[in-house]
Amino acid sequence: MRIGLYPGTFDPITLGHTDIIRRGCALVDRLVIGVAVNTGKGPMFSLEERVAMVEAECAVLSRETDTEIVAHPFENLLIDCAHDVGAQIIIRGLRAVTDFEYEYQMVGMNRAMDDSVETVFLMAEAKYQAIASKLVKEIAKLGGDISKFVTPSVQTRLLEKIG
Ligand code: ADP
Repeated sequence: MRIGLYPGTFDPITLGHTDIIRRGCALVDRLVIGVAVNTGKGPMFSLEERVAMVEAECAVLSRETDTEIVAHPFENLLIDCAHDVGAQIIIRGLRAVTDFEYEYQMVGMNRAMDDSVETVFLMAEAKYQAIASKLVKEIAKLGGDISKFVTPSVQTRLLEKIG
């Protein structure tokens, strides 16, 4: 059984993330969405809220792709999380070159710890490529329209959170 791990903060899950999840499902039998607990990014949503949003989106995606998708909170090393969930593949999304430098280092460090876990990079469809959770939150705070970036249910939760 091929198991993939797609880690991130998902604060909140966007249409960029769901596009990567959909593509990732074509590569594995089970996709584990690793929701990072302690990211240093100072998440707007609690871990429970982020996991709940990921689970709600994944229920739909799981039916669409006929792939098992599960959310898995983690706060240990990514490579240890991959071992915990039995993943042979780590899936990451690549946006612009700005993502590359960080991802390049991550692959190098993770390989030094375990060379048997392969990292695979996927790119979202053009219209979703520029989406970043951080910018979606900023646009929402300033009263902008975020309907092109997140699903209606995430939009509702985000607007509730901002008040
Ligand atoms: P963000 O960087 O938006 O805060 P995460 O830390 O949750 O998001 O990102 C998790 C993974 O999803 C990372 O590999 C990131 O590069 C990828 N990702 C996020 N948004 C997109 C997007 N619009 N297109 C492709 N990959 C993305």
